[in-house]
Amino acid sequence: MPVIRACSHCGQNNRVPAKYLAKTGRCGSCKSPLPPLSEPLPVDGILFDEIIQNVSVPVLVDFWADWCRPCHMAAPEVARTAAEMTGKGVVLKVDTEKYPALAARFNVRGIPNFAVFAGGRLVMQQAGVVNHDQMEQWLRAAAPVSA
Ligand SMILES: [Zn+2]
Repeated sequence: MPVIRACSHCGQNNRVPAKYLAKTGRCGSCKSPLPPLSEPLPVDGILFDEIIQNVSVPVLVDFWADWCRPCHMAAPEVARTAAEMTGKGVVLKVDTEKYPALAARFNVRGIPNFAVFAGGRLVMQQAGVVNHDQMEQWLRAAAPVSA
């Protein structure tokens, strides 16, 4: 199940396989470069697994809910992390109201809850609001030394 990303040049929707989310691609229609994912991507359980298992960079997951005030406080930090880690990390958002089974799988109780994955495995997990510096540090720490 690929991720659908619109070309900023021609508006064409492109299907990007999970493993290429952090790479520069090419629009299938106008051949303009399709930049790596640079904003938080909302995912369901299927897309979550697809990306965690296949993407070439560490992944930060933000477990959140609309009613959660601290989650809204954390959201700009999450977005900034996605922008600053473009090409070096991917940021996913899981709505715990919509996908409670996914939240339960990772024992998410207090939110916001952040989890970092690398190579398909959970590297660390922590509840509570943190700033983008902390989030970026988690992602860098999870990256392979050679990357
Ligand atoms: Zn295009």
